[in-house]
Amino acid sequence: MSKKADKDTIKYLNRQTVLRIIREHNEISRTDLTEKTKMSPTTISAITADLMDAGFIHEIRVGKSSGGRPPVIFGLNPSSASSINLNVTPKGASVSIINLANEIVYKKEIISSVYNESSLELLLNESIKNALENFEYDTELIQGVGISFPGLIDYKNCSIIFSASLHIENFDVKKVIRAVLDRNIYIYKDTDALLLGEYYFGIDKKYRDVIYILVDNGVGMSYLHNGKLFRLPEGGFELGHLTIDPQGELCRCGNRGCLGTMISKVPAQKRLSDILQKGMESRVEEISSLKYEDIIKLYLEKDPACSIVIDEQINLLGTTISNIVNIFNPQLVILGGAFSSGGEDIRNSLKQILDKKALKSFSSTTELKLSSFGINSALLGISHEIFTHEVYKFIDLK
Ligand SMILES: [Zn+2]
Repeated sequence: MSKKADKDTIKYLNRQTVLRIIREHNEISRTDLTEKTKMSPTTISAITADLMDAGFIHEIRVGKSSGGRPPVIFGLNPSSASSINLNVTPKGASVSIINLANEIVYKKEIISSVYNESSLELLLNESIKNALENFEYDTELIQGVGISFPGLIDYKNCSIIFSASLHIENFDVKKVIRAVLDRNIYIYKDTDALLLGEYYFGIDKKYRDVIYILVDNGVGMSYLHNGKLFRLPEGGFELGHLTIDPQGELCRCGNRGCLGTMISKVPAQKRLSDILQKGMESRVEEISSLKYEDIIKLYLEKDPACSIVIDEQINLLGTTISNIVNIFNPQLVILGGAFSSGGEDIRNSLKQILDKKALKSFSSTTELKLSSFGINSALLGISHEIFTHEVYKFIDLK
């Protein structure tokens, strides 16, 4: 490395360190920056001036004087960088714009069924165009596009390998997005994005080994190991396709008796229909219009038919979580999706099964929590990753 390049590298690394510390502290003075970075006051002055010129930080206010000149307090300039984030489901997409202060400044639900390649292409086009139309600043400030999908993702090539619920196989996401907006694209499996959001913005930082389980229109799982999202280059943990009953119902994957055919919304509706046909007492009148949350609410209100359905799902889910804990021994299991709308009642029932079925030394150290902020967690999680790689990026010196 030449002397000039060497000097430039150090300058860049120092700048990124200061930017990272301002991000971690929300607001901070030059004196505190000098103390935390161990850089000289002159260097800190030069870097803060440079970051202000670039627009990433600004002076928030003047702090209290402790004798001398009152200190200037710096903070991130929220509108200096933004990300576009999409959460795609079979029913449409949540589109959001998130700024550098992690504030969701725009959010829109686009309702549009996804059932093949062209319907997905249409939805992605419409979503990005909608976000661009509603972006108040120069589009140059958009740092990247983040998307989460249900299914198997090839994150390196930015494509969907297979998604049973979207009826998609081998879909080039990058090509479709780039045709509308030329930015780096960050693609995640839905549960990976939800887990990242919970990790960065929801749970206590003491948790480093976390399992996220989603029970909603299907069943999914993601894993955070030692503070890092565990990602397989092609695909992830397909919890919903664990074979539970080889003679069971046919799954969209082609096998029989997968977990997803026994837990989640549609299996609950089917089981409820069977039970009602046998004449079981219930307040349910029309099953097809029932949401998963409605069935769970009726379970909490002790509706006899809904109680049977949800008790069966709790038992199977509790056993599944016990098996997962026996394999991964995580510090924390987070349950998200509509099933978690059952609140403490469902959490306690699952924890009892976990305490009974998982290895004692594992279950005694594994906590079970409900997701703290639903779908926003996925949007914020992806956005955090975009800013980490596009704004707070470091030079790889290896
Ligand atoms: Zn399956």
